[in-house]
Amino acid sequence: MHYFVFCQSDIVLEHTTDGYNIPTEPPTELKPWTTVMDIDGAKAYRIDAPITDSSRYEMCPLRQSYYKLSESDYLKAGKCHELLYWDQNTKFCGVCGGPMRFDTAISKKCEHCGKEIWPQLATAVIVLIRRRSPEGKDEVLLVHANNFRGDHYGLVAGFVETGETLEEAVYREVEEEVGLHITNLRYFGSQPWPYPCGLMVGFTADYDYGKIHLQRSELSKGAWFDRDHLPRIPEKMSIARRLIDAWLEDVER
Ligand SMILES: [Zn+2]
Repeated sequence: MHYFVFCQSDIVLEHTTDGYNIPTEPPTELKPWTTVMDIDGAKAYRIDAPITDSSRYEMCPLRQSYYKLSESDYLKAGKCHELLYWDQNTKFCGVCGGPMRFDTAISKKCEHCGKEIWPQLATAVIVLIRRRSPEGKDEVLLVHANNFRGDHYGLVAGFVETGETLEEAVYREVEEEVGLHITNLRYFGSQPWPYPCGLMVGFTADYDYGKIHLQRSELSKGAWFDRDHLPRIPEKMSIARRLIDAWLEDVER
């Protein structure tokens, strides 16, 4: 049994001889906890205060736990975090205000009116746009969004709106954020993004026409880069980085 214990978005990790682990026994010294859920044979807990004085456990931001846990444990931690967040934000029925209770492991039901709810994902698209420059170089479009923490560059991304297909969302976001037209849109892959309840869907596309025109409310910088002049790029844990790494591998071949 694994115990995924969170204080806000920090997870409790246990020290091992060669690294870190998800605690495998109930960390009783972590009381009091306010939420306990069974998720895929593991238990997810929320505690009110972080642990600060333990030689056995330490708090780690969920994002950073990617570098300390196996990928499957990191993904499971993300799922637990999403469900704890969902639980915290759905205490009452949106229809009648009655109390919501768990009905199945991943759904709740209103005690008064019987309204059922399931966790909702905020779906976002992210796209790597490539082109051959006038000088014949392979280039990628990288942008710095106003909400990035740090000075790295990333890819054009945005939330899917109601009634849109994923493809429509990509074309719209690219036009809105950088004023470009793209072609040859291809699916790349997807990634749960539990910050707090997202799903990132990645694409690649070729530049078609237009001049970069940044949407200043969203982006502070944006330009074409070739592989020899890349700025700081996103961390390994993100699908943005996987898209950029795949592009690099392709142009270096
Ligand atoms: Zn209700």
